Amino acid sequence: MKVPFSDYTLGAGVATALVNTSALVRRSTGEMLVDPPALSRFLDEHRIAADAVDPDRGPTQRDLTAVLALRQEVRSLLETDGEDRVAEGANALLARAGTGPRLERDAEGRWQWYVTTASRASLAEELAAMIGTGLLGVLRTLAHDRIRHCASPACDGMFVDTSKAGRRRYCMPELCGNRINVAKHRARRHSTSETR
Ligand SMILES: [Zn+2]
Repeated sequence: MKVPFSDYTLGAGVATALVNTSALVRRSTGEMLVDPPALSRFLDEHRIAADAVDPDRGPTQRDLTAVLALRQEVRSLLETDGEDRVAEGANALLARAGTGPRLERDAEGRWQWYVTTASRASLAEELAAMIGTGLLGVLRTLAHDRIRHCASPACDGMFVDTSKAGRRRYCMPELCGNRINVAKHRARRHSTSETR
């Protein structure tokens, strides 16, 4: 897999999307990565071209198990206090399958830095390299406080804010930022506390 090194938004976006597939976050819909086909849809949705995945067969059960373990690891890393420890963790993710930087031409013919992954890397290792690259880019270019908890009282999600203004508040803006959902949650909480 070839990950553009200067475009950290890609890996940061995958980190956000992956941690928020968990049932801990998707309380209303539950676990998103329920089986290998669901993982395949996740990869398609985020346009992740993984070398480790056979395009005809798709990801395996083993891939899924490894990706779920990676998800837990990435979540812990996002929750980690201390910029240096986040950098250390992101470097470790990248080191799992990442090989030295390569300078190659992009689709427009311009020279760009890429991080490539070892040819025998697994899907989870490729994703780790992508996410590690993204988080390192965020620390380098933006700041550690771009890694945040979702502001919705009804959500335990986390996200990496790579927006220009840096004012993102929700992990899934269309869902968690939806006032009706938040109001419904408050009303539900209110009614359960009244019946106690
Ligand atoms: Zn959220």
